[in-house]
Amino acid sequence: MSDTLLLRALKGQPTSLNLSSKDIENVPKIISKLLRLQNLQLKNNRIHELPKEMSSLRTLTVLNLGNNKLEVLPEALSGLTSLEVLHLFGNNIQQIDGKVLGGMKNLKFLNINNNKLKNLPAAMNKLVHIQHLSVDGNKLTSLPSELCALSHLEEFHAANNQLTSLPLEFGFLAKLKKVHLQKNKIKELPEGLSKCGCLEVIDVAGNDLRIFPSELHKMPLKELYCEENPLLDQLPVQSVQEDEVLTLKELTARYIVKQLKERRRLVKVAGKYFYEDNPAWSFMRRAIRHYPDIRDMLAQASKCALCGGAFLNTWLECVCFIDGHKELKLENSPGRIPMRALLCSYKCFNTPGHHFYGVAFPQ
Ligand SMILES: [Zn+2]
Repeated sequence: MSDTLLLRALKGQPTSLNLSSKDIENVPKIISKLLRLQNLQLKNNRIHELPKEMSSLRTLTVLNLGNNKLEVLPEALSGLTSLEVLHLFGNNIQQIDGKVLGGMKNLKFLNINNNKLKNLPAAMNKLVHIQHLSVDGNKLTSLPSELCALSHLEEFHAANNQLTSLPLEFGFLAKLKKVHLQKNKIKELPEGLSKCGCLEVIDVAGNDLRIFPSELHKMPLKELYCEENPLLDQLPVQSVQEDEVLTLKELTARYIVKQLKERRRLVKVAGKYFYEDNPAWSFMRRAIRHYPDIRDMLAQASKCALCGGAFLNTWLECVCFIDGHKELKLENSPGRIPMRALLCSYKCFNTPGHHFYGVAFPQ
């Protein structure tokens, strides 16, 4: 039946062809003669391979191969240089060949939901125009950091997998608006997540999260879904601790970062305040100029949530609770969100009047 349809189509040279639910096992090679074809629907069949001749469909922009029997990404796809939308949901794909991905240079939308993927290849970064990537319902345990190079990605779906973490570089996804990661095993979200400057929707319901990254309040979030997580919900006991003894490296790093931030400093002379150039600023700048290792190390410094001072390797892990609706201005109301806050010292922690609580994480 599909052959008859194809022969008829060949005369008309249509721009779109629907061969869905036709019980097709082998796609006829003759399909490659439809040189004006832009939209090809082949879903709900029994296809396990595509003829390599199909790679000549250079005008094809939409291809739906959902609900078939594919086990790999067919090589013919690598020739579809105009393809923008590709549906591969509901197949048996276990692995993605990076070479095939590399050919689909204009792909914007890729749906590989409900397959058997255990990992995604580093070559995902070849999908330089991808805006929407969906890998729900696979067996992924981790994501390659190369994924974070997809600078046009706006929507990422990886619900119902086995993910335990996200790449540390996740914050590089500068255009990401929506991330759906419900029903995984994620224990911690990377601190850099707050650098996703467009992120409006986070769905992490049904994971293993206890706390959210700091600076959540600096994101343009509209919706946050976090039910069914072992979130910190009781105020941990406040304790008073003696000041810690910092290493020489930590003390030096803190001092240098402080000086480098103060090009000018406020001084008090005869009861009056005024600004003067900080001589240590230019001295430090000159001193570290020829030491890239030291510069890199200092770039890792973080900022105390209370006093704003810098710290390098020693900090106190604390938590503060913020109201999702009132303080984060979310459109939904997930209740109180435990947000990580890092303090530079027990001196800061012991200062009265703040709302940070110490956290003891189970080993
Ligand atoms: Zn501090």
